[in-house]
Amino acid sequence: MKVMLYFPPLVVASVKNPYPSLSILSSYLKDNSNHDVFVKDINVDFINNLVNISEQNGKDNNSESYLLKYARIIRNKIYIILSIIFSKRIYTLLYRRFMRLRYRPFRSKKGIMHFIREKKQQVNLLSIENHVIEGLKILFDIENGIDYKTIQTLKTNDSRYECDHYLLDFWNLKFSQIYSLLNSEIPDKIYSSLGSNYFYEIKRDEKQLFGISVAFFTQFGAAISLAKHIKKINPTAFIVIGGPVIRHVSDKFHRIMQLFSIVDCFVETEGEDILLELANRIGKNEDWHDIPGIIYRDIHDTIINNPPIQFDIRKNGLPDYTYVANHKYLLPDTLYLRTSIGCYWNKCAFCTQALNKYKHRSVETIVDDMIKMSEVYRCNFIYLSDESVPFIKITKIADLIIRKKFNILWTTYSRLETKFPIALCKRIIRSGCDLLSFGLESANQRVNDLMNKGVSISTVIENLNTFRKLRFGCAIGAIIGFPGETEQEMHHTADFLNSYIRENKGVAGYISIFSLNAKSYVYNHPQEYGISFIEKADEYFYKENYDYKSENGVPYEKMMGIANVVNMKSMSKVIFRGENVKSGRKSRR
Ligand code: SF4
Repeated sequence: MKVMLYFPPLVVASVKNPYPSLSILSSYLKDNSNHDVFVKDINVDFINNLVNISEQNGKDNNSESYLLKYARIIRNKIYIILSIIFSKRIYTLLYRRFMRLRYRPFRSKKGIMHFIREKKQQVNLLSIENHVIEGLKILFDIENGIDYKTIQTLKTNDSRYECDHYLLDFWNLKFSQIYSLLNSEIPDKIYSSLGSNYFYEIKRDEKQLFGISVAFFTQFGAAISLAKHIKKINPTAFIVIGGPVIRHVSDKFHRIMQLFSIVDCFVETEGEDILLELANRIGKNEDWHDIPGIIYRDIHDTIINNPPIQFDIRKNGLPDYTYVANHKYLLPDTLYLRTSIGCYWNKCAFCTQALNKYKHRSVETIVDDMIKMSEVYRCNFIYLSDESVPFIKITKIADLIIRKKFNILWTTYSRLETKFPIALCKRIIRSGCDLLSFGLESANQRVNDLMNKGVSISTVIENLNTFRKLRFGCAIGAIIGFPGETEQEMHHTADFLNSYIRENKGVAGYISIFSLNAKSYVYNHPQEYGISFIEKADEYFYKENYDYKSENGVPYEKMMGIANVVNMKSMSKVIFRGENVKSGRKSRR
């Protein structure tokens, strides 16, 4: 049976390196069957296409922009050189390696080369973001018909602005947008722009199974449109759309039954076993309707949601990244390895992770897979993709890497809930992890408790002081605008982050504005947070941020002002700030 796995647009950040969902599904199918598996990252091809469209247009329109393009290339090269020369990180890394911690990855030149390429690609990513916006404007002919702020939502998490086109609406999707997508006679420019031979693998009337992976809601509209495109070429194709976001919308399917005329079923839990079973049954022309975990429309026009069987994450083998060579990523040697599903804490009031049951892999299998990934795919950097790895597990991973004398750079997410002793942090750094990411959310204890983050700010301060002593990098995410949070408390968080960003060159902080998601605890218990009203938003299939009324409501622009001070500081740390970043952010103040 021919199984095609697709990752649809639009996730701009995934141009850096491949998102792990396709590699996990592909490896599971290959390890457990003889099905012919084909993987394609349409997202990255579409982004590169937008960059070409934007550059091409710049060239054709006037000779001045042609010259400017080369001036920009030279300027970017100067940025890269300067950012390497003046980057404290490289001195810190050399200091660790030679003076103090015998930092393993820098025993080989590949560690240093990776660092230099990473700097270069950070500059490239900023330029790609701008090209994507320019390319979208040209492709969809919206140069003058769109509010500047609306299209900027592609670069920020600001979900207040809306747009008619489903792809540009980004954080929202209305039923009307899906209907017009389903009923349109005009081919979607996303797919037609990729060229007439792009989908050469889809064969009319051949028995084919298509799995479309939707990791972020920004891909949902494009996934539906992709399903329509596939069915047009091969009306007999079987199409399944799956991914974590499906849980957020599965209770709305009964309001848009037409979806099931192009999508055979949806999957809202881990898809490995389900996809395998679908391929087995469809390959043998057997009935598939009783497969656990699928959502479909039956002959009586009723939505059937078969109860799922929990997937055992220990059955996952080495991710299959062989398809990476067919695409153009910025850092193809930087790969993800999934180590768990869900979150072990799972109690934050604003979060929707509670929808997933926590499952995780052992330290031994994680490190074994890291070693194999480095050998098979020659990768230099591994992201352990996890909502948050407990600190004690991170130290065990680090210890095993050191014991096995494995030379790799790696990073992951953790929580600041426990004290991080200096000796353990040194071992983590020695193993090749020079940066950890955390969600602090609020530096104000009252607000942090209100969010149910389960973190003591005094422990956070102790840990950050340890990081400063060791020059250990950390990226801290925060949220302001939580219902009931005062302006003074928001400033508290911003000042806290600012002081650490100033003191420790390795610390970067990013503040986002709270958004009320329909599946969160806050949404379901508004009275506990002083929320007196939440909009119904019936016309939306999905809405990232519900409007609401609460006590102490601080104007959005004011919150953006508080957040931007921190975000700009961190941004300038990541790379010398390019004009593109400055102008984009300035206009939002
Ligand atoms: S915000 Fe992070 S720590 Fe909190 S429940 Fe969600 S995933 Fe877990």
